[in-house]
Amino acid sequence: MTDLPEYALEAIDLRKTYGGTKTTPPKEALKGVTLRIKRGSIFGLLGPNGAGKSTFINIFAGLVNKTSGTGVIWGRDIDKEPRDSRAAIGIVPQEINMDVFFTPYETLELMAGFYGVPKSERRSEEILAAVGLTDKRDAYVRQLSGGMKRRLLVAKALVHNPPILVLDEPTAGVDIELRRQLWEYVRELHAAGTTIVLTTHYLEEAQELCDEIAIVDHGEVVACEPKDALLKRMDTKSLVIDPVEPLAAVPKSLAGFEAEIRDGGSLAISYKFGQQSVAEIIEKYNESGARIADLRTEEPDLEDVFMSLTYQDKGDAA
Ligand code: ADP
Repeated sequence: MTDLPEYALEAIDLRKTYGGTKTTPPKEALKGVTLRIKRGSIFGLLGPNGAGKSTFINIFAGLVNKTSGTGVIWGRDIDKEPRDSRAAIGIVPQEINMDVFFTPYETLELMAGFYGVPKSERRSEEILAAVGLTDKRDAYVRQLSGGMKRRLLVAKALVHNPPILVLDEPTAGVDIELRRQLWEYVRELHAAGTTIVLTTHYLEEAQELCDEIAIVDHGEVVACEPKDALLKRMDTKSLVIDPVEPLAAVPKSLAGFEAEIRDGGSLAISYKFGQQSVAEIIEKYNESGARIADLRTEEPDLEDVFMSLTYQDKGDAA
């Protein structure tokens, strides 16, 4: 096979409903997800906990049965060619579940056997070197540090030399140093030609690593675009003013701004960084006669991005 597919992964109207039995109410985890992940990209599936990211990945891994829709891996339909499609993908799971009584080398050999990789084509030594575990080749897995175990998980996903590597929350609960190491290694794999798909709920991780980002929320894709385009949407900051006297309502003089009074009585005003100035907001605020006890600015976080995206979506539809 010489023709390389345009897309590494394709999901077309993918749906998953869990439960729905007598004892468990139905839970719609994916509500018709369509995504096309280009070959050669580092693609981030970004969303809060419960958004449906693992469900999406696990459908491609063959661990979750979809309710409907189409999944394609490296040009092969996961229903029509389950074995061949899955041969093209390596999945690094979130949980560290490994047989601790094997050595890293044995673990990789077993995995290669599981994938039916002939002995002559196995690359266990090479992969151990790539993830920096050569000197732990014959140690027991239970003696490895948490970081080493994570790297061994990546190694396990690579034994059949897949063109696509999927990492499910690769750095959840991992310290900063190890996170950087893993990012570095993911970049190396990418540079060597592997398409990378990762799920994360850390905005920073997606920002740091990915060239394309899809944001999922409540089982739906709310945005899917190149990172730079997405970041441009995140130029909204907030100015938060603590008034001397409690405010009954947002001052009328601030009518041109998106503003709200928070539970503690602070007034939060959104503004476009670089387009609107804090001085202008304060001037408008002062016009109302209210006084300022304290003020600060807040950077946007993932939640703001979601909020602004869903807000815009509604606006577009209207
Ligand atoms: P994420 O990976 O983004 O955190 P998940 O795909 O794990 O999200 O979960 C999406 C939704 O589906 C959540 O509401 C979760 O509680 C629900 N869910 C996940 N797995 C199951 C399951 N096996 N049975 C029932 N509900 C599930």
